Amino acid sequence: MHMISSPEIINEIFRHDVLLQKYTSFRTGGAAEIFVEPVDTSELKKVLLFCKDEQKKVFIFGKGTNILVNDNGVKGVVIHLGGVNFQKIERRDRNVLSGAGVTLSNLVRTVASYGLGGLEVLAGIPGTVGGAVMMNAGGKYGEISDSISSVTTMTFDGRIIKYTRGNIEFAYRGCNLSNQIVIEVEFKLKESKTEVVLEKMDAIYKEKKEMQPLGTFNAGSIFKNTPQHKAAELIDKANLKGFKVGGAIISKKHANFIVNTGNSTSADILELIKIVKETIKKKYNVSLEEEIHIW
Ligand SMILES: Cc1cc2nc3c(=O)[nH]c(=O)nc-3n(C[C@H](O)[C@H](O)[C@H](O)COP(=O)(O)OP(=O)(O)OC[C@H]3O[C@@H](n4cnc5c(N)ncnc54)[C@H](O)[C@@H]3O)c2cc1C
Repeated sequence: MHMISSPEIINEIFRHDVLLQKYTSFRTGGAAEIFVEPVDTSELKKVLLFCKDEQKKVFIFGKGTNILVNDNGVKGVVIHLGGVNFQKIERRDRNVLSGAGVTLSNLVRTVASYGLGGLEVLAGIPGTVGGAVMMNAGGKYGEISDSISSVTTMTFDGRIIKYTRGNIEFAYRGCNLSNQIVIEVEFKLKESKTEVVLEKMDAIYKEKKEMQPLGTFNAGSIFKNTPQHKAAELIDKANLKGFKVGGAIISKKHANFIVNTGNSTSADILELIKIVKETIKKKYNVSLEEEIHIW
């Protein structure tokens, strides 16, 4: 038997028909039927039990930097861990505990100020800690999973589970924690010096800025690399850089980025994704798979 969810609280905190395009880095997409920002784990549990009782589909929204939301929006409850209790960073010697709602940039800078190294490899990656764990965010210098010692989640029926690193399977841009909400992450970091960590961060950020269309409306890499091919190289070789559908364009700077030039719809981006996949399959017999999550 689980605790009965409280409809009064739910009514107070639920917001209806909230346009998600304001929140996604693509700046496209329709409305969430219901949007909610629980303040803490106890409120999160009430929301989840309500969703279970009412058979509402649950969507977890970090910072929307790797999501393409359909123009028709999403039917169900979109949960955003924006509450203050999901924004805490706490140092415990060489370990650091972070709430899932903390932005990666905040975490990376904070641990640098502690003189702890390991997370600087994530410099320049937008999003939240929760989203980064689910995506196993990273790049050529390393991934977030390299520094994780444990992850605490809440299941969709409100149970809290703490996983040590060895009990989680991380893969290239993903992990096996589906149907759970990351609420807290513990990192095991290395003793270093603030200036050394900041220098590495700056170098990685500069490299990223040279290669990627930072500062535009995009969602990072659209496709995963395959074991044999870099998606960007194939798209570039197929002369698709600069190819447009409506307001969406394949970045001239980085072929694996699609940019909303200002008036793109999600449908434009989806059409562009379809064209790229068909072209690459036809020309090189390679099936590209999306890295971004499509809602
Ligand atoms: C300019 C730019 C550059 C980027 N560069 C990189 C890069 O170098 N390397 C890289 O790996 N990525 C990169 N990305 C992609 C993106 O920033 C990362 O994947 C990031 O970790 C996503 O975090 P988010 O909070 O925005 O997640 P969202 O986009 O909000 O969500 C992504 C997925 O995670 C799930 N999710 C989010 N939070 C939680 C949670 N607390 N619990 C459970 N599930 C959750 C969502 O349901 C969704 O399925 C880039 C994106 C942009 C826009």
